[in-house]
Amino acid sequence: MNRAVFLDRDGTLNVDRDYLYRIEDFEFLPGAVEGLRLLQEAGFLLVVITNQSGIARGYYTEDDFTKLTSWMTGELRRQGVKLAGVYYCPHLPDGAVPEYRMDCPCRKPKTGLFDRAVRELDISLTHSFAVGDRLRDCAVCTPSGCRGFLIGGSAPLPEGIQPATSLLDAARKILRGQGATP
Ligand SMILES: [Mg+2]
Ligand SMILES: [Zn+2]
Repeated sequence: MNRAVFLDRDGTLNVDRDYLYRIEDFEFLPGAVEGLRLLQEAGFLLVVITNQSGIARGYYTEDDFTKLTSWMTGELRRQGVKLAGVYYCPHLPDGAVPEYRMDCPCRKPKTGLFDRAVRELDISLTHSFAVGDRLRDCAVCTPSGCRGFLIGGSAPLPEGIQPATSLLDAARKILRGQGATP
């Protein structure tokens, strides 16, 4: 089974700009690519898990999202980082686009996207981590055994979730903790 780090996208990998979909607006956060590289070198699968309600809101299309994703994936690959998967939720219960208007099982804090990744990529949750800038990005954490890092978070946090200042900080903490009892 594989160890993975589940990564939120906006505010974790890249600067959070509301309903970002244009390549020219995408900007990696300082240290993010280095953090990904460290985790990859340590043997973790890198799995992006992202809510994209802008699709249901009609702010951009699923095709726009896919284009930005292939650009981002290519850019990372060029810098030596391979993503194992990008899982996204295009839904919203009161979305403007009928096709995506639903109370789905995949919008974080629901765990549908995590569950799919675990299944498709054969991930062991007890050996995995989630990193994001919102508590919902760590929705898969305890009691599943997965541990989390909340960027910009401060104590007290739910059990199994620690604060981090950035993805790079979280990556260093994960690597430092390797082999130690949680
Ligand atoms: Mg975020
Ligand atoms: Zn969904």
